Amino acid sequence: MGTIQALRGTRDILPEEVVYWQRVESVARDILGRAAYQEIRTPIFEETGLFERGIGEATDVVGKEMYTFLDKGERSVTLRPEGTAGVVRAAIEHGIYAQGGVQRLWYTGPMFRYERPGAGRQRQFHQIGVEVLGSPEPRADAEVIAIATDILETLGLKNLHLNINSLGNRDDRLTYRQALVDYLTPYKAELDPDSQDRLSRNPLRILDSKDKRTQEIAENGPSILQYLGPDSKRHFEKVQQFLSDLGISYQVNPRLVRGLDYYTHTAFEVISDDRELGSQATVCGGGRYDGLLAELGGPDTPSVGWAIGLERLIILLQKLQSPPKFGLDFYVVSRGEKAEAQALLLTQKLRRAGFSLELDLSGSAFKKQFARADKSGAVGCLILGDEEAESQTVKLKWMATKEQQTLAQVDLLEKADELRREIDSLKTKEN
Ligand code: ATP
Ligand code: MG
Repeated sequence: MGTIQALRGTRDILPEEVVYWQRVESVARDILGRAAYQEIRTPIFEETGLFERGIGEATDVVGKEMYTFLDKGERSVTLRPEGTAGVVRAAIEHGIYAQGGVQRLWYTGPMFRYERPGAGRQRQFHQIGVEVLGSPEPRADAEVIAIATDILETLGLKNLHLNINSLGNRDDRLTYRQALVDYLTPYKAELDPDSQDRLSRNPLRILDSKDKRTQEIAENGPSILQYLGPDSKRHFEKVQQFLSDLGISYQVNPRLVRGLDYYTHTAFEVISDDRELGSQATVCGGGRYDGLLAELGGPDTPSVGWAIGLERLIILLQKLQSPPKFGLDFYVVSRGEKAEAQALLLTQKLRRAGFSLELDLSGSAFKKQFARADKSGAVGCLILGDEEAESQTVKLKWMATKEQQTLAQVDLLEKADELRREIDSLKTKEN
């Protein structure tokens, strides 16, 4: 019988990679916390209709990419392809929006899309996202963009570009949509097959096509910016003004559209020019969705948010930085029945006293245990053999200097504070 492997488009995140994930999560958590965003956790599967209504049937996500199945009760359920719909559903269900003022929420977790897997593209992938519910102000757009920028910069990412656009309000978009269809129809035969299909269903998405000829045709077509009414224009100008005030550089890209149907006004993307991710890879996408809460049966609640794709971010991070070190205090080596029993006990006591220790559980010869101690990256090695067990002592060896001393086991615990200071100073020296 063959072994079972992870499904196509899914992957295991092994310990050496997890350290990067933890770093991203802790940076994001910290920045979001300081900006008064609260975490929300919603189910990873929902009634299929939520995504059909919340994302839009004409989108690729709903049309082609959803993991949808009937459960044992014959209900159609879908593994969430993105986070916004679930967060908005939860906000409406629990009346969160009604608690007055503006709700700032963030989430992280796995998302599922049935796509062709590739570099930074998977069937199970992960996002961190924010949603600000209840503010129509361009300041809210600027705030969420500033937070995304802060997270990416704090992580040390380089060569990222912010593109922004305005999709106007519903009316602006409808007028523009018609103008675009009128312009593109005579070229229909020259468009790529997907775009031909989109011409009637979701023409704005044609602007997003990766096909060369389609792009050329679209370049010369009408721009959404010519169709913005005065309110939409003012909103977009203010967002740009605030970004400039915040020192955030950006480019206006009138062809930038987003996948979801309910985006209004600001749409934005942060893209990387890293080759491995393709010529232009989006690490963060977001925008304003003033119509979504009402579409899902809630009250009119102008909102704005974004999602960062974590796999892509981590591919970039891994290239830039060596993995963060764990920085163990002690590696514990022991041999002989009595010594091994004492080592277990001493290790546990020192852990309770706040130290980090790895206890060698291999039962192998001292030599092999010492070799592992060397590799462990621990600052010190604690050694227990028959002699130490007999006298209730322990040998402490500092790995950097190979200096060695014998201590009573009780002294080690009693001098915990002193020991802590010594280890910390050795750790600073190493870095
Ligand atoms: P793309 O054009 O790359 O398919 P998208 O417009 O479908 O992106 P969004 O729905 O805006 O993506 O999701 C936000 C972010 O989530 C993307 O910018 C990307 O970083 C990440 N993402 C989307 N789909 C995947 C996937 N299948 N695998 C890994 N990350 C993804
Ligand atoms: Mg996609």
